[in-house]
Amino acid sequence: MSSIKIRLAEVEQRIRLAEQRYSRAPGSVRLLAVSKTHPAAFISEALAAGQYRFGENYLQEALEKIGQLRDQRLEWHFIGRIQSNKTRGIAENFHWVHSLYSIAHARRLNDQRPPDLPPLNVCLQILIDNEATKGGIAPEEAGNLIAHFSELPRLRLRGLMTLPAPVQGLENQRIAFHRLRLIREQLKSPEFGLETLSMGMTADLEAAIAEGATIVRVGTAIFGPRKSTLQSGK
Ligand SMILES: *Cc1c(COP(=O)(O)O)cnc(C)c1O
Repeated sequence: MSSIKIRLAEVEQRIRLAEQRYSRAPGSVRLLAVSKTHPAAFISEALAAGQYRFGENYLQEALEKIGQLRDQRLEWHFIGRIQSNKTRGIAENFHWVHSLYSIAHARRLNDQRPPDLPPLNVCLQILIDNEATKGGIAPEEAGNLIAHFSELPRLRLRGLMTLPAPVQGLENQRIAFHRLRLIREQLKSPEFGLETLSMGMTADLEAAIAEGATIVRVGTAIFGPRKSTLQSGK
């Protein structure tokens, strides 16, 4: 067995054990394999092991891999920082965006989403505190942003995402994830249920699952370490 296949099985096992331990429904947590900085060949290996959802942070790099893997049925999630001049590439090539927090970018993605594709699935990136990146919208401003989604028919608002600064220990890790869950309870409405909570990575996926994550974004545990220059995950 390839090492990617073995590591993927280990991550799946971690997810299933956490679901059991924290009384989550079996299969309620989906795995997004974060393939940034890794070649298309790694993605093909994961695909051969049954993984078909992949997360990318850098548009140029992602477009190359999407092109190389054009014949495969993959689901691509953009999880990196959005820049205005990159929205078209995102709108045309991705199924999901997890890192949206500006109304200007939301409008651009909506306008640029090709009519022959289904609406782009979106999670809003929420600033909890002390983030690993400064990306995100403050919880008290998120309601305002959500209100705009009624006028953005080419976007489908699915939920919230967060990327807290790394902390040690399960109980400490749960704090930020717990806050995101509470924010979701405050923000959800009949129109926007915000069912998706995109939270948890290699080091803290158990804590995220304990607090209700529905998508965990895992790179290192599946594909191994990334080169340090690109490790910041911007
Ligand atoms: C890189 C990245 C991940 C994956 O992190 P690992 O620690 O390698 O699992 C998850 N989410 C975002 C937004 C990232 O940039």
